[in-house]
Amino acid sequence: MDAWASFAFLLPTMAFAFGMAFLVIARYGSRAARLMGGGYIALGFAYFLPILAGEMRVADPTLAIDAFYLAGFFLFGQGLLVHFQRPTHRAGFALFTGASFVAVAYAVVVATSLKAELLLHDTACSLLIAVPLAFVWRRARHSVDAALLVVTGLVIFDTMVRSIVFTSFFMGEATLATFESTSYAFMMQASAGALGIVFALVALAAMGIDIIVTYRDAAEQDPLTGLLNRRGFSRVTALMEGEAERGGSMIVCDIDHFKSVNDTYGHATGDRVLVALAETMQSRLPRGALVARFGGEEFILFVPEAPEQALGLAEALRLAFEGRDWRREGVDRRLTASFGVSGARDGDRSLYDAISRADRSLYLAKAQGRNQVVLAPEAPQVPLGIVAANSA
Ligand code: GH3
Ligand code: MG
Ligand code: MG
Repeated sequence: MDAWASFAFLLPTMAFAFGMAFLVIARYGSRAARLMGGGYIALGFAYFLPILAGEMRVADPTLAIDAFYLAGFFLFGQGLLVHFQRPTHRAGFALFTGASFVAVAYAVVVATSLKAELLLHDTACSLLIAVPLAFVWRRARHSVDAALLVVTGLVIFDTMVRSIVFTSFFMGEATLATFESTSYAFMMQASAGALGIVFALVALAAMGIDIIVTYRDAAEQDPLTGLLNRRGFSRVTALMEGEAERGGSMIVCDIDHFKSVNDTYGHATGDRVLVALAETMQSRLPRGALVARFGGEEFILFVPEAPEQALGLAEALRLAFEGRDWRREGVDRRLTASFGVSGARDGDRSLYDAISRADRSLYLAKAQGRNQVVLAPEAPQVPLGIVAANSA
């Protein structure tokens, strides 16, 4: 077997291997990876059939090869649309793929024109990913997504330029029967092989990132309120630790006598109250602020402002919560919450130092009768700040 023949074997092997890699990724919940996997397996057959036909001297495989290429590019296009969260227009693309195959078959069987076959086939394959590319062009979410778009553009460019240059200048005496021995066939396999590897690696990375981000977000989000949970809050605040050094405050909030809401109206009603409080907080969040549900009926807010401003926000939240009519949620009494506030200080090792002080202030707010905001004092710890009338 000469070097060219062993190279030819490499292509289907790689395409099948990438197909399998995509299908493995797909098992973790990526529909795009399943489509790409199907595309690479189709491509593997398209690369493998000429070798098989050559070894076994069976019937002309041209049409079957073209069908596998078209199916592969159809699946790549669908994979791109799914990955970038666009509608797939599956019926339309399938119809186009089928019509392209009929046209290619006409060129092969009726017109027996290699030139027509190549141009039709390459144009159809290009369009099957170029149209999806046009739909998703501005939808890259990170650099790997952007790389995927660029590599897709390169595949289209490579396919069309090669096709046009070859059919215009280098076709010579080549016919459908002698095509496999042409320089075009070699160039096609070489460049498609190289780009196919790059495309697969970039797409695998992009889809792998999507899966990681999906699981990370799920792990960092409170399913009831949709807010960050403690883990998510920790990660995001760790990222902005530098910013916090320039100031910022923590507000800790805990609903008063929440256990009795559950006991009186049921757990489901308690849940609705938690969701409503989360919405109130989110709707009043200043720029750059962050809110999380730390557990049970305890919420925490980071505000990139001085403690005095944070105190004002906490008071506004307290009043909004106290003033809310809960009858729609099935609660026929007033609900209140208590708040502790502390600014970040020189000498703090992390934002958690400010959280501890805010927590102590919250404890004080509870001890002083609830439904109030207490600002952490410089030292020692004495009640300060706004003390509102207790609901009792
Ligand atoms: P305090 O004013 O001292 O804060 O009293 P409290 O009753 O609010 O505090 P306590 O810590 O005794 O009770 C908190 C309650 O929060 C107990 C628990 O049943 C309830 N809880 C925690 N998580 C959830 C939840 O996800 N949904 C509902 N409905 N209740 C929850
Ligand atoms: Mg409570
Ligand atoms: Mg509590």
